[in-house]
Amino acid sequence: MNISLIAHTPDPEGVVARAARTCYSRGAPQSLLPPDSRSLIRSLVKKGHHSVLEHASFSFLLEGLSRASSHQLVRHRLASFSQQSQRYVNLEEPAYVIPPSISDNSHATMIFKEAMEKANHAYKQLLNAGIAKEDARYIFPQAVTTILVFTVNARELLHIFRLRLCNRAQWEIRQACLEMLKLVTQIAPTVFEGAGPPCVDGQCMEGNGGCGRPWSKKNQ
Ligand SMILES: Cc1cc2nc3c(=O)[nH]c(=O)nc-3n(C[C@H](O)[C@H](O)[C@H](O)COP(=O)(O)OP(=O)(O)OC[C@H]3O[C@@H](n4cnc5c(N)ncnc54)[C@H](O)[C@@H]3O)c2cc1C
Repeated sequence: MNISLIAHTPDPEGVVARAARTCYSRGAPQSLLPPDSRSLIRSLVKKGHHSVLEHASFSFLLEGLSRASSHQLVRHRLASFSQQSQRYVNLEEPAYVIPPSISDNSHATMIFKEAMEKANHAYKQLLNAGIAKEDARYIFPQAVTTILVFTVNARELLHIFRLRLCNRAQWEIRQACLEMLKLVTQIAPTVFEGAGPPCVDGQCMEGNGGCGRPWSKKNQ
């Protein structure tokens, strides 16, 4: 999997701080520089005044994510997506993701690879038989990789991190979110300093299914 941040709001923390100041200023607010912008952002996040975080947005290019994982990502309705089409793109010899539990087991790896090869072979045969790509693709397993551009504002991204960085979330989307968190932390460190699943605030939402290992950026 390869994830890059291809665009973002210039000076995202400056925009967030200025938007917040608008709420409390008599006239048009001046821009606010660190460290004042940082302490304002911290207090907004703490108070739950999260709408101001919507003024900062980030666009990621994700390559090599499985369709199993991308299907989970696109459930986040407040983000925007453009995904490689299996209707229009010829996907002979597709790359696929092998989950670590399978790649660590040679017998399981053999079974998995055989299934992928059969699916790929069937795809080619269907195309050769005159079947359109949009129908031949039905043969593909969820392991095949995809490419997508994902644009999201900081508020929704924090929400996504809350759900998907949890140790109980699926491993591949968790990995993708951890990569994205590293990238946005370089650009907007104050906004994302408290990012993580609910246990970063001390309250696990998983009940008896909790992992017992409170999440922190350091132990990832
Ligand atoms: C560990 C895990 C397991 C999951 N398992 C399953 C599963 O088995 N089956 C399954 O179908 N899904 C599953 N999901 C997906 C989950 O149900 C959500 O669809 C997904 O996480 C998107 O998050 P979200 O609904 O919070 O919203 P987003 O689309 O990210 O929206 C953000 C927030 O906006 C608000 N919002 C958005 N749209 C609406 C709306 N129409 N009405 C009211 N408020 C809205 C809500 O407050 C929402 O939390 C799972 C998710 C996780 C993290």
